[in-house]
Amino acid sequence: MSTIIEKPEAAAKLAAAPAFNREGLIFEHSKKGRRGYSLPALDVPRRELSDLLPAELRRDTIDDECEVSEVDVIRHFTRLSKLNVSIDAGLYPLGSCTMKHNPRINEEIARIGGFAQSHPMQPEDQVQGNLELLWNLEQSLKEILGMPRVTLQPVAGAHRELTGILMIHKALATGGNARKYILIPDSAHGTNPASANFAGYGIRELKSNSRGTLDLDLLEKQVDEDVAALMITVPNTLGVFEDQITAIAGILHRKGAYLYCDGANLNSFVGIARPGDMGIDVIHSNLHKTFSTPHGGGGPGAGPVGVSERLIPFLPTPTIEKGDDGSFFLDYNHAASIGRVRAFNGNFGVLVRALTYMRSMGPTGLRRVAQLAVLNANYIRARLKAAYHLPYDAPSLHEVVFSDRNQTSRDVHTLDIAKRLMDYGFHPPTIYFPLIVAGALMIEPTETEPKEELDAFCDAMLAIATECEERPELVRSAPHTTPVRRLDEARAARQPILRWKP
Ligand SMILES: *Cc1c(COP(=O)(O)O)cnc(C)c1O
Repeated sequence: MSTIIEKPEAAAKLAAAPAFNREGLIFEHSKKGRRGYSLPALDVPRRELSDLLPAELRRDTIDDECEVSEVDVIRHFTRLSKLNVSIDAGLYPLGSCTMKHNPRINEEIARIGGFAQSHPMQPEDQVQGNLELLWNLEQSLKEILGMPRVTLQPVAGAHRELTGILMIHKALATGGNARKYILIPDSAHGTNPASANFAGYGIRELKSNSRGTLDLDLLEKQVDEDVAALMITVPNTLGVFEDQITAIAGILHRKGAYLYCDGANLNSFVGIARPGDMGIDVIHSNLHKTFSTPHGGGGPGAGPVGVSERLIPFLPTPTIEKGDDGSFFLDYNHAASIGRVRAFNGNFGVLVRALTYMRSMGPTGLRRVAQLAVLNANYIRARLKAAYHLPYDAPSLHEVVFSDRNQTSRDVHTLDIAKRLMDYGFHPPTIYFPLIVAGALMIEPTETEPKEELDAFCDAMLAIATECEERPELVRSAPHTTPVRRLDEARAARQPILRWKP
């Protein structure tokens, strides 16, 4: 193996943390009689387990009891944790996911007792501060999005999409015709068609034009009395801004349809432009992306949804309101509401983090986020464009999509390049998405990366491009320095082995 490891320091780092032996992960640390706890002397009458638990709930023996000391446990989990790739350890350029640094002030505020330890069933007069925080967050989002109302209930991107489509459905049904189809461009995130379908709609796909944006003539032809809405991502997953967005809104509105905007990419224009000013009827924002609450591995997230005037009656209940006396309350009194989409107040801790972030950044700080996010993506674009093919040359915003077209003649493909990046210590970018780019490499650096880190990433990408020419086999067989090599990814996702067995 040593002959092909090109990053000896990475391999050395790995060897220093012996979470692995030659057979793989070391999980067996148990030694008879070791203890990792000490209990104080019993100061209540001793009771036998047989008095406390009915026989059918008791076991005679515990087969795989693990006997370990505190130091065994700490070292085991610390070693395992070092195998995690995380934004805290380096650039995480996963396009469309906005993996940015999460400022620690967010954590500090989220842990304040009144936030972290309040119970969702507490009466309103005991949790006025929490309700005020939610109310303030809605006010901030209203201003940022330019929408007259925002619900905080949905807890993820896909969840907020369903919420938005259900509101459109209810509004149209109330008018007498819920319609049958949602239009979705071929560059959309996979959750868009899934959510529309879940809400009962059929999908009509719109082909993007050569700039990677929507073709207005095509749109005009497709919008008829059966179309409920267009779901569009702005900027789209190619990182390209739909510069005809107000014309798009006009086409839909003239036919009585709604314009739904997937705002997961808000990082590219927060503080600079407002969806509400573009004629958008529904916009969601992923707080776990733009507003810096930690995410990955499935949650927890928060996906507030902003709506235009005509959709306000259909917002989920309860809404959070401020009374004339200045107190805050939950208002269930909305007859046309689609109802609740989530228990209690969504992922409250995530909402606390998001407001903390907004307040600590301030309006100019948020604007700077978008400016630097766009600058960083374009810096990478400029440094890599001679080595990697750019399928769309429209200006990029917060992310840039390359393809493997320059490398395929050496029989090296996107997956190989992504795997090789791991040997250089970087998390791979999003690959093979958007689907309209064959062999896509979708890179989103975010605004929180220092220039040195961007340069190290670009240097690695350029070194890999050279390797593709000179030693393609090295790239094709990567990664070389990771604890496990190439996995059967479908099996790893569908039949994960979650429990170690001797
Ligand atoms: C991340 C993302 C989603 C989905 O959000 P989740 O919180 O992962 O459900 C939808 N659309 C776009 C454009 C995204 O980037």
